[in-house]
Amino acid sequence: MIDLITAAAEPLVDAFRRPITYLRVSVTDRCNLRCVYCMPEAGLPWIPKPDVLTFEEITSIVRAAASIGVRSIRLTGGEPLIRRDLDHLVAMIAAVPGIDDIALSTNGLLLEQQAPALAAAGLRRVNVSLDTLHEDRFTAIARRPGLHRVLAGIDAAIAHGLGPVKINCVVMRGANDDELESFARMTRERAVHIRFIEVMPVHDNVEMQKDAWVSSDEVLTRLGALGELHAVPNPHGNGPARTFAYDGAPGTVGVISPLAHDYCETCNRVRLSADGRLKLCLFGDNMIDLRTPLRTGGGEEAIVDILRASMHVKPERHHLDLGQTASMMRAFSEIGG
Ligand code: SAM
Ligand code: SF4
Repeated sequence: MIDLITAAAEPLVDAFRRPITYLRVSVTDRCNLRCVYCMPEAGLPWIPKPDVLTFEEITSIVRAAASIGVRSIRLTGGEPLIRRDLDHLVAMIAAVPGIDDIALSTNGLLLEQQAPALAAAGLRRVNVSLDTLHEDRFTAIARRPGLHRVLAGIDAAIAHGLGPVKINCVVMRGANDDELESFARMTRERAVHIRFIEVMPVHDNVEMQKDAWVSSDEVLTRLGALGELHAVPNPHGNGPARTFAYDGAPGTVGVISPLAHDYCETCNRVRLSADGRLKLCLFGDNMIDLRTPLRTGGGEEAIVDILRASMHVKPERHHLDLGQTASMMRAFSEIGG
């Protein structure tokens, strides 16, 4: 086990002087939905179960990362709530010295049942994906039904103190872009924080993405027509969103433009795939294997060394442009941060 105090003297900083304090952990690549912008209808060539990191292995990597300055963990997927006993992992991570924030990105289908145990285990907050408020559209976009379960999950998250609850909405022209105003009005009634995400090209969605893409600038113009928007800090810490509120509203609206480079400038994160590969940029091929060193007895010291070395290859920015495919995302685990 690592001496936290000694190792913490030199926190993780990349070659562009960005402190790395945030680790996103994909706990599974599988999902109980098939959102049109994210996964093919038939699913993906899933990671074989023996290759998926155990809770103990994930916790070892978290402990190593925490010893050199990582403070926030986000559990994601695939859909993280389909991983059995996820609350056990939350409790294990919550016990790691130095970790002061554990968050979850979920599609919300299983959140109502699991919110009490997750909150009791130490989960602090959730982001829930929700692209539409209409059941038929939900079924078309997610290729599975379940809108009422997601809404119940959001209510349960708020009831169990898993806030500020952020709602991630991927905007697609012709599919849900006529609902921007309905989502925005919710923030005037409830303490929910809606973030409109520009759709990105992944897997086989490239043609769809080109036609469906709506710029964050267009979204903001339309939101501004509903009432004056004031720039406000992100609810809970830094993130990639530009955030605004209407006068007197308990909630906020925000936009996330993953294709814009302002997303990169404040990048403080690295990602861990479900099979233990460290991913240094959302849009990049550079993946570093952490599972093999862990499984061959390297221990947490070896993980610290690899994390430090990886800082030399973390890119300054991504090189992805609209309509260009990303040759990535076997274990796509992102945005929504
Ligand atoms: N299953 C969980 C969920 O849906 O929140 C966590 C994983 S999901 C990959 C994380 C986030 O990525 C979600 O907010 C989802 O909407 C977003 N996302 C997935 N594919 C995307 C794409 N092509 N463009 C923009 N956002 C995308
Ligand atoms: Fe599953 Fe989330 Fe991807 Fe939708 S966005 S298919 S819920 S992983």
